Amino acid sequence: MSQRIKIKALLESTETGIDVTVKGWVRTFRNNQFIALNDGSTNNNLQVVVDFENADPALLKRLTTGAAISVFGHLVASLGKGQTVEVKAKTIQILGDSDPEKYPLQPKKHSLEFLREIAHLRFRTNTFGAIFRVRNSLAYAVHQFFQEKGFIYLHTPIITASDAEGAGETFHVTNFDLLNIPKADNGEVDFKQDFFGRATNLTVSGQLEGELGAMALSDIYTFGPTFRAENSNTTRHLAEFWMIEPEMAFCDLVDNMDTAEALLKYVIAYALDKNRDDIEFLTQRLLDEEKQKPQHERSEMSLTEKLQFCLDNDFERLTYTEAIDILKESAPNKKKKFQYPVEGWGTDLQSEHERYLVEKHFKKPVILTDYPKEIKAFYMRQNDDGKTVRAMDILFPGIGEIVGGSQREERLDKLEQRMDEMNIPKEELWWYLDTRRFGACEHAGFGLGFERLVLFVTGMGNIRDVIPFPRFPRSAEF
Ligand code: ATP
Ligand code: MN
Repeated sequence: MSQRIKIKALLESTETGIDVTVKGWVRTFRNNQFIALNDGSTNNNLQVVVDFENADPALLKRLTTGAAISVFGHLVASLGKGQTVEVKAKTIQILGDSDPEKYPLQPKKHSLEFLREIAHLRFRTNTFGAIFRVRNSLAYAVHQFFQEKGFIYLHTPIITASDAEGAGETFHVTNFDLLNIPKADNGEVDFKQDFFGRATNLTVSGQLEGELGAMALSDIYTFGPTFRAENSNTTRHLAEFWMIEPEMAFCDLVDNMDTAEALLKYVIAYALDKNRDDIEFLTQRLLDEEKQKPQHERSEMSLTEKLQFCLDNDFERLTYTEAIDILKESAPNKKKKFQYPVEGWGTDLQSEHERYLVEKHFKKPVILTDYPKEIKAFYMRQNDDGKTVRAMDILFPGIGEIVGGSQREERLDKLEQRMDEMNIPKEELWWYLDTRRFGACEHAGFGLGFERLVLFVTGMGNIRDVIPFPRFPRSAEF
């Protein structure tokens, strides 16, 4: 018996007349003759033709949706539509039966909500096969982009004692017996007795440690899981998500924006090229889905067009202040259509405002810079106006914020002053402040939410559908 060949390779081959072994899961078996076989290497099924007249009827009965099989047969040019080759089976072996009465995935369209409940099986659908192959390519392309530029992949800790943003939305990590938590004399929890001898939590960002790396290695990036106990039940937030965080020494805000824009274009182009079939499938899926909507709610561009458009155009760059002026004068603001009216300078933008700028006003990705310091983190470099910081957010159509970054404050006095103002404990971050004491330099970085990127490239509407096993409030199944 010849070696197993994956279906993607088989469908791409032009060599017919040879014997092959394929293995996969039965998607459908129709007319007692045609098996649609899928092994996850591609969205396209291989047609396996069964000589049913000479086959054992007991075997035919076991060719059910979901069954794992091994087929040895002859590769021939296909007469059927939609495929160039097919396999005429000589022997079929059932590797794992799948009881059709009990198998939750029927060969029909299931809702995404239902599939989320059977996330352990949803990989076996066309939609999720496509999503996770695209996700894989994007992850690979992220590494390739940075490696080609000489960045060092740095693994920052997952358990930490600091809360990078000071936002307090952390998950505690403890070894305490929860029914018997040691208390100090003042009645507070005595973390000295805990595993690490102090209070610890899961990281919300690897940035602060990333900066330490950049202050010696020049350019680093992290790509790891981050955790936020924010109780936001949105289609854009997860409690556990993956973040890509480059930090670059000798780099200012403009270099930072250039790197982020180049990264996004690079990885999108990579996926468009590598996952043509998957993205075409997802494009069609979105078109079908949008047919249910009234005309004026449908997008003007298809998914593929949107991705291409993103590659072909410079992102629009403007300041927060300029954006506020546009929003104040905008039709939805004047007609009181925004849920949060834009009145003055200084408040944070809501997702409806971000989406107006991107989808209606500029009709392309937007980079907003120089936000009010009050709504941004302590480590962002202060501008001379005393009001704004060198922050940048990249806003994408359908997504809103996909990247958040800044030039970092390298001046010790300015940084300490801001930490005092914002009640960030300086003693705990002594190691961070040391980089400002010894060889400080201009530097910058950003965080790209990986799932938001996958959301954009796959055209999916809910972030819970682009990570294999989503974690969100009241849900940690699988
Ligand atoms: P948002 O305003 O959307 O909550 P943020 O300002 O909290 O975002 P940052 O702290 O700047 O986000 O994090 C960097 C990036 O990580 C964001 O631009 C986004 O792409 C992603 N991100 C942030 N929070 C989440 C989350 N809960 N789930 C998935 N991705 C997230
Ligand atoms: Mn947030």
